[in-house]
Amino acid sequence: MDLLQRCVFKRIFQHGQCYLGSQDATRSLASRFPSALLDGHRAAGHRSKSSVPGIGERTLIAVKPDGVQRRLVGQIIQRFEQRGFKLVGLKMLQVSEDLLSQHYCELRKKPFYPSLLHYMTSGPVVVMVWEGHNVVQSCRVMVGHTNPAQAQAGTVRGDFSVHVSRNVVHASDSLEGAQREIQLWFQGKDLLNWDCCHHTSTYE
Ligand code: UDP
Ligand code: MG
Repeated sequence: MDLLQRCVFKRIFQHGQCYLGSQDATRSLASRFPSALLDGHRAAGHRSKSSVPGIGERTLIAVKPDGVQRRLVGQIIQRFEQRGFKLVGLKMLQVSEDLLSQHYCELRKKPFYPSLLHYMTSGPVVVMVWEGHNVVQSCRVMVGHTNPAQAQAGTVRGDFSVHVSRNVVHASDSLEGAQREIQLWFQGKDLLNWDCCHHTSTYE
C-alpha cells in the first residue's frame, strides 16, 4: 500500500465515511446531503475538537467577474483566511444564465436584474465555500454594504469598489440562503472536510 492509499484509508476510517460498495450507505449519504452542505463539521461525523457551537457553519462567497478581471481574487481570499475561516470548496467557472437566474431568483422583478445577469455572465467568477463560527454574518460584515458608496472602509466593497453595479463580491445573506446557494453551486463531493492544524489557535 503506497502513502496515498494509506492516507485515504486512514481518512475513511477516522471519519466513519466508509460508504464504498454499499447501496444502503450510499442512500444514507444522499439523505444527509443538505445538512452536510450546511454544516460540514457535524454532518461529516467530524472529530469534535471544540465545544464551540456552530463551528461547521458554511457560507457561499463569490468573486464576481469585475473582481476576477481586476486580479483581486488573491486579496479577497486572503481576508477570509486571515480572519480564521476555513476554505472547504473553491472553483472558477463561467456562469450560465440558468444558474444565475436560480441564484438571484428573488431579484427577478428588479429593474437592475437584466444588467445584473449581463454583468455576472460577462466573465469567469470564483466561487467558494467558507466554514466557521458565525461565518454567514461575519462574512456579510466583511463584504460590506451592497452599495459600495455606503460600504465602510475596511470592507471588501468599501476598499475595492465604488458603484453598486460592480461591487466585486457576493456573500450569502442568511443561513437558509447559504444552504440554498451552496447546494446550487456545489456538489457535496466537491466540499472537503479537513482538519486545520491551527484549530486551537482559532477556537478553544
Ligand atoms: N444590484 C445592482 N443594483 C442595485 C442593487 C443590487 O446592480 O440597485 C446588484 C449588485 O451586484 C448586488 C446584487 O445585485 O450585489 C444582488 O443584490 P442584493 O440586494 O442581494 O445585494 P447583496 O446581497 O449582493 O449585498
Ligand atoms: Mg443578496
